[in-house]
Amino acid sequence: MQTFATFLACIVSYDAWFYLVHRLLHVPCLYRRFHYQHYQKRHPTWQDTMTAHAAENAVSGLGVLWPMFLTNASMHGCLAAWLFCFARGFSRHDARCAWLVGTHHLMHHTQPDANFSAIYVDWICGTVAR
Ligand SMILES: [Zn+2]
Ligand SMILES: [Zn+2]
Repeated sequence: MQTFATFLACIVSYDAWFYLVHRLLHVPCLYRRFHYQHYQKRHPTWQDTMTAHAAENAVSGLGVLWPMFLTNASMHGCLAAWLFCFARGFSRHDARCAWLVGTHHLMHHTQPDANFSAIYVDWICGTVAR
């Protein structure tokens, strides 16, 4: 797979995987055990991005790798997507970056029943905050 196609596939895979994992983390028993730590701040900054249970941090980003295992994806495309998703994740937790990445994830911190992933995934799944 070409580098740019891999880049896009890895981002879509990341966003879809993150949505599934994140929805599971909001099941009450999983929320109490693994996800509540991430909500200690209703108005986070970039420094709070990785404030989460170790299991959540280990599992929630794995989606970026699936195209590598399922296709002949480009290593460079996958690495670029991983860096993009990492930087985007930090940016989504800081209101100072809202001009660049919007407030979709910041709204999740105040409305935890919506906005679980990237806005296009939430739109497809009907979970965009109203
Ligand atoms: Zn968050
Ligand atoms: Zn959540």
